[in-house]
Amino acid sequence: MQAIKSVLKISGVLVAVIAINMVGTANAAASSPDFALTANITLAGEYTQNDVVFVQENLAFLQKYLPTWYQYVTDAGALTLTIDEAEGAVGRAATAKCCDAQGRGVITFGFHFGQSPDDAGQTSEAQRVAFIGTFVHEVTHILDQRAGRHAKTNFKSCVAAEKSGLEKQLQVKRDLAGANVSGEFLQALNRQTRTEASALVSRDLWQQYCGAFEK
Ligand SMILES: [Zn+2]
Repeated sequence: MQAIKSVLKISGVLVAVIAINMVGTANAAASSPDFALTANITLAGEYTQNDVVFVQENLAFLQKYLPTWYQYVTDAGALTLTIDEAEGAVGRAATAKCCDAQGRGVITFGFHFGQSPDDAGQTSEAQRVAFIGTFVHEVTHILDQRAGRHAKTNFKSCVAAEKSGLEKQLQVKRDLAGANVSGEFLQALNRQTRTEASALVSRDLWQQYCGAFEK
């Protein structure tokens, strides 16, 4: 998938990526050893200490406020999270692939955690909300792929796969808004659920996600 806003606001991506690369250079860990976040979830590749802290904090947050969604991501089978800024540079916020040679689902984020250009200029809470939604979306793709559902072979199956991911992305945010959260975090949740709910029923969205199958 790509986070909804990245497909709607691709023009903003390139400028933001340049800024992120400058930060990333100062902060880069060239080739870090794999880091176990939970029994099933491993961080691999060129992540930074900031990435580790960000994911740990958001997993702990999910565990505290929405234990069922925490279970949803931690019970999805073995997962590897990795970051590839080249993906982000071409507008892909995240992609999911099931499975690698070891049977692990691999989720590749296009940006360092908490630095999505879709939400650049917004608050750190908005970045966290976006991350949780994207993570759940990609985990849904892995679960669907593990179960043999929605293989993307044509426009129709691509839409079905993306709809599955987007609905879960929207649901986790709606559930979070109903949990005991407040302030800017709640406002960011409400902003993003409004935007995504309308995007979910827009024809343009499916064209952007799956239009390549029609060519
Ligand atoms: Zn998707």
